[in-house]
Amino acid sequence: MIDDRSGDTPRHPAWAEVPDRAWNDWRWQLRERVTDLARLQSLLEVTPAEARGIVGRTSFSFAVTPYYLSLVGAPGCPVRRQAIPTDEELRVTPSELRDPLGEDAHSPVPHLTHRYPDRALLYVTHNCPVYCRHCTRSRKVGDEHSAPARGELDAAFEYLRRTPAVRDVLVSGGDPLSLSDARLAEILARLRTIDSVEVIRLCTRNPVTLPQRIDDALVEALRPFQPLYVHTHFNHPRECTPEAARALARLADAGFVLGNQMVLLRGVNDDVDTVVALNRWLLRQRCRPYYIFQCDPAEGTAHLRTPIQTGLTILDQMRGRVSGLAIPQYAVDLPGGGGKVTLVPERLVRAEPGRRTFRDAFGREFTYVEEE
Ligand SMILES: *Cc1c(COP(=O)(O)O)cnc(C)c1O
Ligand code: SF4
Repeated sequence: MIDDRSGDTPRHPAWAEVPDRAWNDWRWQLRERVTDLARLQSLLEVTPAEARGIVGRTSFSFAVTPYYLSLVGAPGCPVRRQAIPTDEELRVTPSELRDPLGEDAHSPVPHLTHRYPDRALLYVTHNCPVYCRHCTRSRKVGDEHSAPARGELDAAFEYLRRTPAVRDVLVSGGDPLSLSDARLAEILARLRTIDSVEVIRLCTRNPVTLPQRIDDALVEALRPFQPLYVHTHFNHPRECTPEAARALARLADAGFVLGNQMVLLRGVNDDVDTVVALNRWLLRQRCRPYYIFQCDPAEGTAHLRTPIQTGLTILDQMRGRVSGLAIPQYAVDLPGGGGKVTLVPERLVRAEPGRRTFRDAFGREFTYVEEE
């Protein structure tokens, strides 16, 4: 079944004649990325606001793979909102930050953030196939000069070696799958020489933006490094294509544990039906919804952020109505570097000595009596 391509995503007409072998080759997809206004205008009817957004950008890169661009619909389309800048992105509000999570301040050595005792975040590249407009690391992704060259991760590996409290290393970026299989394997192999590192998490959006990248060669390159958790970032059912399903199936078949970290985005997935449809699809692909993230206040993202109540309402509407497997944790990563807090809809109605009264998912009240 894995090679049945009959239901694949219809390509944008500009690429209709591209041989399948090229289209399904991630190197071709990366080479042919759309990175400027003129090229985009030859493919889509670009709105004036989008044109201003693309031309007016100062630092944050713009790139879209032909595959992901083929998912883009009319203005307002949830994929379009994630991939194509608009002039709203040029507006920076007083509460927004260049480094919303204080990652650089919690960086004991270059290319590593260590905020929680037992986990650390390692940045292995700053490139991504598509630059998501809501990215919390927009300050540095796409900037080739800020990506670690060979040897520059040595200090990070040395730090992990002398910090055995770290058991879980998140390999992130940018997107680690922007590296070659060989370079990625080299990094994972070095992590695996550190006895205290028990779990490796590979954080990648390639299954969404460049599913062709998840080929047999990659899976073989990753196979030696179990236990390996692959955390990806699907945000909308429109991204749930046969190509994406095959990418996740390859990873799951190889025994990697799959999780999804959705970012709650205004006009993309800020309603319960969208989240439920997305998460049901993910479960069918053996990918467990792990987090819904409140969108971080990175510069130029106000138009994509929702009130926190939106996330709470979505969770409230899911509980009791859909499988608990489809309900992730809702996390707010505290601006300034406080780390993640998870929020749940308030269920406790009253707390009295020995009794607590709750509201169920359908608004009825029930009391739990605590024995002396
Ligand atoms: C999110 C994050 C982690 C991982 O947190 P979990 O809640 O374990 O998924 C680790 N380090 C940093 C700096 C993070 O931002
Ligand atoms: S793939 Fe991740 S790191 Fe890259 S732009 Fe998107 S959100 Fe940012």
